[in-house]
Amino acid sequence: MKHVYTIEDLREGALPANAKLAVIGYPVSHSASPQMHQAALDALGMDMTYVRVEVKPGSVGECFSLMRGLGFVGCNVTIPHKLEAMECCDELSKSVELLGVANTIHFKGDLILGDNSDGPGLVKALEGDFGLSLRGLRVLVLGAGGGAGKAIATQLNEEGCGKLYLSNRTVEKVELLTQGLADTGTEVHALGNTDEELKAVSDAVDVIINATSMGMKAEDLLPFPAEFLSGDHKVYDAIYKPAQTGLLKAAEERGAATANGLSMLIHQGAVSFEIWTGEAPDVVLMREAISG
Ligand code: NAP
Repeated sequence: MKHVYTIEDLREGALPANAKLAVIGYPVSHSASPQMHQAALDALGMDMTYVRVEVKPGSVGECFSLMRGLGFVGCNVTIPHKLEAMECCDELSKSVELLGVANTIHFKGDLILGDNSDGPGLVKALEGDFGLSLRGLRVLVLGAGGGAGKAIATQLNEEGCGKLYLSNRTVEKVELLTQGLADTGTEVHALGNTDEELKAVSDAVDVIINATSMGMKAEDLLPFPAEFLSGDHKVYDAIYKPAQTGLLKAAEERGAATANGLSMLIHQGAVSFEIWTGEAPDVVLMREAISG
């Protein structure tokens, strides 16, 4: 069993006979998805192997047709293929149509179906980590114009949050997103990411979600100024490496409840798993597999 397979391996059928699920990306060797999905498959006695396949940009369509020929059930899609994957699908879920990116592909009969599990994964993560029901809550999403942020914002709107504040450095992206959201009764505001704009909403929100990439590197500035954080906030950072970002550290120091993106990673994986197999996997086992 190789750590990473290639499209040549798919062409030659040089994979384990029961390789039926995969994550594709470029690069993909860092992905922890195989550990958590394999643990869930094994626990349910499903005779399938989940592999990593490195696919160069421009080759996603060929990858999908090779996978179908080999009897794959589906795959996860990571950077940079989420847009290209969507373009190679026959049918898209409502969320993919809205977001323009797919992270879960299901080969079903003759069809390639595209879905996105990031938004539902985040909602389950918030419910699990903070014991929250989202209905009526006031939530600020930082980086709501990025791929993950858009998925999160769209799902929170669907869940019937009370108020949604969608912040992004490039404010046009959240203005456009806001216009496209369904009318679910949620009050939605688009804003930039200046200190003044963030200060103005800091007392008006219960939950702050970081979906920017700020915090992945030690030298990154905080995506939200520390002085506006308080013990009344619940702060979720979609980043899970490092486990404690500067934002989470600052929030904890000010008495806020905090959680990192590991739970989102696990729950979005669990949503994908259910799309492929129709079975709910054991998320505790998935967490152990990914943390071990
Ligand atoms: P993306 O599409 O590239 O979006 C990046 C976002 O960060 C954009 O909103 C961007 O703003 C903003 N940003 C980047 N640099 C900034 C800066 N210096 N100042 C202010 N804003 C900045 O990336 P993505 O795929 O959405 O991922 C975003 C984060 O979510 C990453 O840290 C990723 O690891 C995490 N994530 C976690 C999970 C999980 O399962 N836990 C899943 C997906 C993503 P502009 O639009 O203005 O460029």
